[in-house]
Amino acid sequence: MLNVYKTLGWFFKQEWKKYTIMLILLLILSFMTIIPANLVGEAIDDISTGDITRNSLFFLILLLVLVPIVRYFFDFSYHYLINYQGQKLSYQLRQKYLKKLFEMDSKLYEQYSKGELIARVTNDLQSLTVAATSLLQEIIYNGSLLIFIIGTMVLTISVKLTLVSVTIMPIAVFILTRILNKMRKVYKIHRVIYSDMTEKVLESIEGVKVVRAYVQEENDFQKLEGALLRDIESWRKIVNFETVFGPLFDFIYSIAYFLAFAFGTYLVIHKEITVGDLITFTMYLGTLYGPIISLSNIFNQINNAIISNERFAEILNKETDVKDIVNPKEIINFNKIDYRNVTFKYPFDKHNVINNINFTINIGETIGIVGPTGAGKSTLIRQLLREFNVTEGDVFIDDVPIEDYKIDDVRNLVGYVPQSHILFRRRVDENILIGNPKADVTNIERAITIADFKKDLAYLSDGLQTMVGESGTTLSGGQKQRLSIARAIVKDPQILILDDSLSAVDANTEETIINHLKEYRSGKTNIIVAHRFSAVKDADMILVLSEGQIIESGTHHELMALNGWYKIQYEKQTSMGK
Ligand code: ADP
Repeated sequence: MLNVYKTLGWFFKQEWKKYTIMLILLLILSFMTIIPANLVGEAIDDISTGDITRNSLFFLILLLVLVPIVRYFFDFSYHYLINYQGQKLSYQLRQKYLKKLFEMDSKLYEQYSKGELIARVTNDLQSLTVAATSLLQEIIYNGSLLIFIIGTMVLTISVKLTLVSVTIMPIAVFILTRILNKMRKVYKIHRVIYSDMTEKVLESIEGVKVVRAYVQEENDFQKLEGALLRDIESWRKIVNFETVFGPLFDFIYSIAYFLAFAFGTYLVIHKEITVGDLITFTMYLGTLYGPIISLSNIFNQINNAIISNERFAEILNKETDVKDIVNPKEIINFNKIDYRNVTFKYPFDKHNVINNINFTINIGETIGIVGPTGAGKSTLIRQLLREFNVTEGDVFIDDVPIEDYKIDDVRNLVGYVPQSHILFRRRVDENILIGNPKADVTNIERAITIADFKKDLAYLSDGLQTMVGESGTTLSGGQKQRLSIARAIVKDPQILILDDSLSAVDANTEETIINHLKEYRSGKTNIIVAHRFSAVKDADMILVLSEGQIIESGTHHELMALNGWYKIQYEKQTSMGK
């Protein structure tokens, strides 16, 4: 548990003044809880001895009315503060978490599913916030109330009576704590099952169109139902456990009441305590019920907080493999890229995806990359995005290893259009501006012209201001591709990478875009990964990749002369086109 508060230490440090005020308020609140029982006991004694006067009765009633009013004021101030703190902490934790997610390299996203990452910033974050607010409150409030009540019982009523009726309770709390400790495992399993369910629900929502198209709603729902059932079952285990052990306290409490009354009456008869004392004592006993129940439930929350803390901190403590070195270099005058003996393996894979790759791209050149699906074309080219570090060899920019440059500098050099288009639920122009938020109207115009997206605007209800649906649902496949290309071009990058980004456009549009690239991007570098050879035919160099290796390279004419894979595939494609 200490670890939880260590993790949150920065927040307590930052908010120590408010936490001090809250602590004082809590102590006042808990002290005020014991006042009425004391007043009633004294009144009863005064009545039984005949000492009660009109004035003292009036004073007593006034106090009994005033105490709750004053208590309400403190209670209100306390809850205002604690709720405010809770929200502030949630906000700051979310900020830290999201910042971390943005900072992390792709390895993290290979390791954790979306569901897992979301569960950590919702469920786990929630129990961490609880740990810093209501859990802390319950520990302090109930703990101090217990001490005040038992202290008053011992000091002002009877040590013997307290020992007889109250000792039974800590024994029960002790036993329950031990059992709950064993339950930690079950709680942990439940978290994993919950994440899995979240992931499946997300996947189903994202894939709803595909599922519907294949009339697989029933099937998909059954799979989802399995995950829902597993969640309920594991939850049921927890609830069953709590149901069995929850009422234990009521039982123990009745024993405590019985002992207090029986032994208390005995003490009254033997004049060791007064009737008023006995009444005050039983009222105290009643007041103890709440704190004890809360304190026993606290172990449950502490369990949650410990697990959540481990899960949340696991992400926050992750270190990126891809990070800036001390004193990174800046790219001043980009000239060329060299792949030298580059070999790469994905972090959680056993086999190399690309092997011993060597080639050079000079500024102003257009490079085509072709090869069968899964040959490693994307992997090869994505090395320029600094998502992962290369496993062996090095990529050089202007004869300096890519790792020695500022990561942002390298990424700023590149405009990347991925195979799968990521479009946001924003307006078309906002989607384009992600490439370069500073771009003006002329830049946008130029980008949509080059990407041949201009012709699409006429079909969009509000032109550039049209809202794009989630994952680009309101656009056709070709439109999504052209929009993604426009986003990369608006950046006017030194290196434009089209990673199989022309697959959904027709041959004419492809030709238009390729011609636009030649016209508008002279002097700049283009890397075009394509399945259709027409897209790369005019490139300065074409690399043919197969099973992670370059098997042929050269211009179109050189490759045709080689009579190899390129020529065979090229002829196949052109004869199909005829
Ligand atoms: P291409 O672009 O030529 O189709 P890719 O570079 O996408 O090929 O993929 C090459 C190989 O690497 C494939 O076998 C693919 O399954 C594997 N691969 C791609 N991305 C990942 C990844 N993120 N983690 C593990 N393996 C991957």
